Amino acid sequence: LKVSIHKMDIPVPYGPAFEGERIRKEDMQIEIGGPGVPAFEYVCTKEIDEIEDGKIQVIGPDLDEIKPGPGVSIGIMVEVAGRKMQPDFEPIFERQMHRFLGEAQGLFHMGQRDIIRHRISKEAFKSGFRIKHIGSIIHSQFHNNFGAIVDKVQVTFYTKREDVEKVLNDVRAAYAERDARLKGMTDDSVNLFYSCTLCQSFAPTHICVVTPERSGLCGSVSWLDGKAGYEINPTGPNQPIERGKTVDERLGQWEGTNSFIFNGSNRSLEKVSLYSIMTDPMTSCGCFECISAMLPATNGIMVVDRDFTEMTPCGMKFSTLAGTVGGGLQTPGFMGHSKFYLGSRKFISADGGLGRVVWMPKALKEELTETLVKTAEELGLDDFLNKIADETVAQTEDEVLAYMQKVNHPALAMAPMF
Ligand code: SF4
Ligand code: ZN
Repeated sequence: LKVSIHKMDIPVPYGPAFEGERIRKEDMQIEIGGPGVPAFEYVCTKEIDEIEDGKIQVIGPDLDEIKPGPGVSIGIMVEVAGRKMQPDFEPIFERQMHRFLGEAQGLFHMGQRDIIRHRISKEAFKSGFRIKHIGSIIHSQFHNNFGAIVDKVQVTFYTKREDVEKVLNDVRAAYAERDARLKGMTDDSVNLFYSCTLCQSFAPTHICVVTPERSGLCGSVSWLDGKAGYEINPTGPNQPIERGKTVDERLGQWEGTNSFIFNGSNRSLEKVSLYSIMTDPMTSCGCFECISAMLPATNGIMVVDRDFTEMTPCGMKFSTLAGTVGGGLQTPGFMGHSKFYLGSRKFISADGGLGRVVWMPKALKEELTETLVKTAEELGLDDFLNKIADETVAQTEDEVLAYMQKVNHPALAMAPMF
């Protein structure tokens, strides 16, 4: 067995102690990504002779020439090769970058895929930290952690906005292809679900139960990813969960999932429903792509995503809601989830399903149009997308209700939510 520890050559301290370290606005040199700023993090598989191990390129300006502050557009492309590498492993590697980068002092990592928001501190900049050092971390940590699978790691940074935008088209197509691999699979068609406990580092009681029809709430761990994660690292954060006997089919509760949650949450949670926001909903850590929140007067729920930073009809902005919902608690009536789950036929199916959605930001509706239209049709909801209010027609709960009455929204005729 050949064990080689790749030393990383970076000018700041590195270790688990720095994970989760915050960098305040005043202390940051730059912020990469954030709402409306094109940026991404993408791992892809190459043939062994297509890349050069350890090659780190910064295409465009580095920190010395980038104007300090927020709104910096950067694309991080990590190419890996190895005889045991499979494209199914890419998302796992991507997700682990959260830990790898977060462990450098002065580097704060948030988000994944094309919704990242990273900060580099002034302190780190002064110590000599530059963009290329992010590449050194990725290179050495990929070798150290995935050495059994990867032989070569090459990292390219695009730091010009127009380049990021260009590359982002292909990267988004690759994300879409990954998501498509899952389509057609149902929860009933598999024997095992998978856990993800990666976020327990900051939300100690949180567990995502990942099924074919419900991805992890960060949107970057699908059932296939959970399966691959387990294959890569059998003692890691993705463990198989046998469903066992049914406790409640409608809510999506099984003896196996309940006992897994009980043991995995340090015995603080007893039950979790995979298909309900009202009864024992799944916990939320902090990385959810969307938050759903009950709007009592409408007999329905609103959904807001991270990119929508204005006020929502529940009287809270995304950031405030995130503080209420996150931290590994069960909060009936509120739930963090992925965009994928919103388009799933199992989306809060115990509470009435997609038909309960009465408001969401216009941009989110547009982004998910294809999948939402398809699911709505399958559920027999007529012209449903036009019945969901957005910020252009309703900003308060009362305005949402008025809009629903105008378009005859199906939630009006559903059983009371609680
Ligand atoms: Fe895993 Fe869930 Fe955290 Fe995503 S949000 S990394 S699925 S625990
Ligand atoms: Zn999380």
